[in-house]
Amino acid sequence: MKYAIIIPDGCSDFPVAELGDKTPLQAANIPQMDAVAAQGLVGRTDNTPAHFPAGSEVANMVLFGYDPNQYFTGRAPIEAAAQGIELGPHDWAIRCNLVSIVDQVMVDFTAGHISTEEATSLLGSLSAAVEDPRLEFAPGVSYRNLLIYRGSEGTAAPFSADTRTRAPHDLTDLPVTDDYPRGPGSDLLTELMQRSVPLFAQHEVNKARTAAGKTACSNIWLWGQGGGPSLPSFESRFGLQGVMITAVDLLRGLAALIGWDRIEVDGATGYLDTNYVGKGQAALEALDKYDVVCVHVEATDEASHEGRVDEKIKALEAIDTHVVAPVHEKLKGMGEYRLLVLPDHPTPCSTKKHTHGAVPLAICGSDISSSGQTYSEATAAQSAIEFSDGWTMMQQFIQGKW
Ligand SMILES: [Zn+2]
Repeated sequence: MKYAIIIPDGCSDFPVAELGDKTPLQAANIPQMDAVAAQGLVGRTDNTPAHFPAGSEVANMVLFGYDPNQYFTGRAPIEAAAQGIELGPHDWAIRCNLVSIVDQVMVDFTAGHISTEEATSLLGSLSAAVEDPRLEFAPGVSYRNLLIYRGSEGTAAPFSADTRTRAPHDLTDLPVTDDYPRGPGSDLLTELMQRSVPLFAQHEVNKARTAAGKTACSNIWLWGQGGGPSLPSFESRFGLQGVMITAVDLLRGLAALIGWDRIEVDGATGYLDTNYVGKGQAALEALDKYDVVCVHVEATDEASHEGRVDEKIKALEAIDTHVVAPVHEKLKGMGEYRLLVLPDHPTPCSTKKHTHGAVPLAICGSDISSSGQTYSEATAAQSAIEFSDGWTMMQQFIQGKW
C-alpha cells in the first residue's frame, strides 16, 4: 500500500461575507480535492487540544499520530531538530523571531520577510553584544531563527515549564505591552528582547531597509521554548518509511523527530510564491521510493495571516492543480493506495490567527467506497466520521477499515 498526505496549512476557515458567506474552501475551484472527497469520504479531526496553543507545532504532531500530552515539549525544539541541532538533557531551544513592532503594536511578525542574510547579520551583532557562552543564536531562514540555551548539570535553567511566552503571529495588529515573557524564569528572555531594541534601531541592516522603503526590524521576539523531545519513530509504530516535502522548519523538524527523510525542492519558499509544480513533481518521484509521502504547503496559512482571502483561494487552487492532481493520478496507477488531504488547524482570514477546532479531512483510496461528497468545512461538519483526539486519526488512515 502507498500512502500520500497533502497538507494545505491552515486552509480551514469561516464563511466570509465577501465570498457570499462561503469559506475559501467552498469558494475555490478545487475539483481534485473534491474528487478525493467524492471518491472516498469526508470527516473532521481535531488536531488542536484546548490546553495547547493552536499552532502548527502541536497540530502537525497530532496529525502525524503523536499525543502532545506525552510528546510535546515546545515548538523551538522541533525546529532545532530540523536544523540538525542536538539538544542535551539540560539544553533548551527558543524560537527567536525577527519582528516589527511600531508604537507597541505587532505590525509584522516577519519583519517584512527579512532576508536570511539580514537576519544573520542582526543576530550576529546581538550575540556579540550579549557575550554569554550559554547562549547560541542559530540563524534559520528569514525571520524564523532560534536561540539555543546550553545548560549544565547542577545548574537550573533560567526558565521553566511555567515560563509563558506568546506566538508573535497571534499578536498581529495587537498591542504587545502585556505580552512579553512572563512567569517563573522569564527574566532572561525579557532582557534579551529588550537589549535588541536599541541595538537594532542603530543597525546598518535597518538603515538600509528604511532607505529602501522596507519595514525595519525592531527587535527579537522569543517564544516557543522547550527542552529536547523524544518521539518513537513512525516506522516503529506503523512499519512504514516516510518522507516530508516542505519549506518550513517546523515540518522538517517533526519529520526528523519521527525518523522521516526530507526532500528539499528548489523554489519552495513557504510563501505565496512557492514552487507548487516542483513540490508535486518531487512527490511523484518520492512515491516510487517511500511508503508514505507527505507534501506540506504553507502558502494557505501565510495568506490567512495576512487576511488575504483572494490569495488563500489562489493558493488552494494551485495546490489542487499542481499537487493533489498529479499525486492522485500517480497513486491510481500504483495498485493499493490511500490519499489524505487535510490542514493542521484552521486559520481564519478574519482573525489572521490559528484557532482551535476541528478541520475537514478527505480520504480516498483503492479500498474506500465513494461518499459523493465535496471537500469543505460544511460537508465535514455533517459527517459521522470524527476524531476528537486527532492523534488517533493517523492509525485509522494507515491501518483502519473504512
Ligand atoms: Zn499550520
